[in-house]
Amino acid sequence: MGESSADVSGGAQEREQEVETLAAEAFRHLAWLQSAGVSELPPPPIMEQLARSSAFPPGEGAADSAAPPGQAERTRDALSRDAPSRDGEGAGTAAPSPRPADAPRAGFAGDKGCGSPALLAIRQEIGDCTRCKLAAGRHRLVFGVGNPAAELVFVGEGPGEDEDRQGEPFVGRAGQLLTRMIEAMGYARGDVYIANVVKCRPPGNRNPEPDEIEACEPFLRAQLAAIRPRVIVALGKFAAQTLLRDATPISRLRGRWATYEGVKLMPTFHPAYLLRSPDEKKKAWEDLQLVMKELGSSLPRR
Ligand code: SF4
Repeated sequence: MGESSADVSGGAQEREQEVETLAAEAFRHLAWLQSAGVSELPPPPIMEQLARSSAFPPGEGAADSAAPPGQAERTRDALSRDAPSRDGEGAGTAAPSPRPADAPRAGFAGDKGCGSPALLAIRQEIGDCTRCKLAAGRHRLVFGVGNPAAELVFVGEGPGEDEDRQGEPFVGRAGQLLTRMIEAMGYARGDVYIANVVKCRPPGNRNPEPDEIEACEPFLRAQLAAIRPRVIVALGKFAAQTLLRDATPISRLRGRWATYEGVKLMPTFHPAYLLRSPDEKKKAWEDLQLVMKELGSSLPRR
């Protein structure tokens, strides 16, 4: 039996309402990002498309109302510097390489760690990124994974070999240890969110270099602003020093509360270091117990 014109019209209205609801949520997130001082995040293309859509008359978009005049243009220029176009052609210094896992996608909605409109918009903005030289050697860009509304976020350094293959952070031996640490705190891995300072694997698991951190860090900051956790655990020196803008060694930063953009941040050792130095696990556990105490009222019963 064919559809009546009333059915078609009703379906179109439902779709329009759905788009409006999604768009409104996306704009709320963007307004919060900007009010939280994430000025590095330009209005992503998805936001601009929504702003141009009939659902939002000119001037009602958060991108227009929340950012100072000219800021959106400046931040967009900063982030897109050396960035390629979506078809992979750009002025970046890194040699483009074929990345079959990323290249053929029309969107990133199915990617891990994109469970809210704001996170998806950030992932769309990263795209098939070649903003730094790590792009040349990656198999998969590792955005993040977990609960988009997590009260607890773990931030590590960068993907290793297993993560580069699977497109998910902390899935190798160090990741298995992190998962056990999370479970010991009373959470499931899916309760929290996990991300890294750099989204692409440094070759040979070397440390990320300053220019690579500088290129990628705005995306981490945008992820944290989108999730708005109660507590961040910075795993290892790169995560702690990057987020805190503090060059103090991790051995002195760990175990003491710090603040990142108004959010409590606990630096502790990286699980990979704990695998090499198991005697330090006790100190890491003490740090996580401080986190548990801070979040105690909402710890799940297991
Ligand atoms: Fe882009 Fe970050 Fe990957 Fe560099 S590490 S290519 S900035 S996503």
